[in-house]
Amino acid sequence: MANLFDEVTKFLDILKSKNTISSKLFEFIEVPQNEYIVHFPVEMDNGEYKMFKGYRVQHNNLLGPYKGGIRFWNTVNLSEVNALAFWMTIKCALADIPFGGGKGGIKLNPNNYSDKEIERISRGFTRAISYFIGENKDIPAPDVGTNSKIIDYMTDQYQKLNGRHNLGVFTGKSLNFGGSLGREYATGKGVALSVERYIYHNKLDAKKLTFTTQGFGNVGYWTAYFLCELGLKCLAIGDHTAYYESQDGINIKAAGEYAKTNKGLKGFTHNEITKEDFFKIKADFILPCALETQITMDNVEDINCRAIFEGANGPVTVDADKRLNERGIDVYPDILCNSGGVIVSYFEWLQNKNCEYLSEDVINDKLRNKIFAVFDSINLEGNKREHCYLKALKKLENNLISRGLINS
Ligand code: NAD
Repeated sequence: MANLFDEVTKFLDILKSKNTISSKLFEFIEVPQNEYIVHFPVEMDNGEYKMFKGYRVQHNNLLGPYKGGIRFWNTVNLSEVNALAFWMTIKCALADIPFGGGKGGIKLNPNNYSDKEIERISRGFTRAISYFIGENKDIPAPDVGTNSKIIDYMTDQYQKLNGRHNLGVFTGKSLNFGGSLGREYATGKGVALSVERYIYHNKLDAKKLTFTTQGFGNVGYWTAYFLCELGLKCLAIGDHTAYYESQDGINIKAAGEYAKTNKGLKGFTHNEITKEDFFKIKADFILPCALETQITMDNVEDINCRAIFEGANGPVTVDADKRLNERGIDVYPDILCNSGGVIVSYFEWLQNKNCEYLSEDVINDKLRNKIFAVFDSINLEGNKREHCYLKALKKLENNLISRGLINS
């Protein structure tokens, strides 16, 4: 989508019309606080230098330092980063963790560069944004196209520039470099925990339920993995290379190994289908875990499920969300379902600050308690996205009142 932030504006207009939140708060959050665009040269393997364009948007820090991932993907643009940064502000407020919202990215296709080139791009970007980030200022993490290896390069570069052993400036690091146990799969685990809580509230039997997953990277793979562990059957998967379905169920571990080795699912076993057919499959749940604006007014009538759980950020457009609700299909929003990543990032940040590290069981228990508590705190009737936003906005509004910036 050319202008993803339009989706944010459209939804804020709906929330404004509810008249439950001060118009002053909307003025504060309708625009990001800081938008940085940097251009930096990187040496390619052939010895030539190439210029790259990177973004870091700091949407809001009322509740704590800006927090949000860095995306390496060929669709990255300022409007997209602005929308993603905005969603981080709302997500952290809803999860009740002391962070604001930020996001960053570089427009590139990571598959077109060697590992060494990706390392030099990561270091170059860190040099370019180093002044704007910091463990109490703005804390980046992985997102689409980035991973713990890239975050390690960035952390190393930041430490070299600043001459300090400062680990809390990035989260999503590897375990050898101050990362947290459980962070690698935390986002997918959080999505699966949201589904688990839905199953509990609706008194369903997990072993009789089916799902489909779009996107088979970090979030898509781990979401599908944990749902299968819970007893559900995966009927279809897909990524930017291909989509596959099997009514007998897909072996998620085998698909994950295949996608890793082959940089995508193309060539995997089972029936190959189109993206259009993927969204027509009848299943209990659809888990969009790839990119934004995947379920739109163009395919919303094809959707044939009980509920959608947004693993990706912004996969269902505002208009499609409204239509799905009219059709009686529940949509559990990104700011709730995929908050497991930033929640465990928060635990990682605390561990780095305290220099004291927690066991995997403790991290997973803390994550489970947090996701269930947030899930149970929202009204399970009506539009879930609206409930989640209004709860998060109330928290931001109360903060503005305490600061004396708006009247109670
Ligand atoms: P990733 O790079 O690990 O995987 C992205 C996946 O999406 C890949 O399988 C890729 O093939 C697929 N994809 C990309 N373009 C596609 C297209 N046009 N059609 C179908 N599939 C496509 O990234 P990720 O970390 O799994 O992130 C996925 C989503 O989850 C993003 O929206 C991201 O912002 C969100 N998210 C990630 C985290 C995290 O901790 N990594 C946390 C919260 C939200």
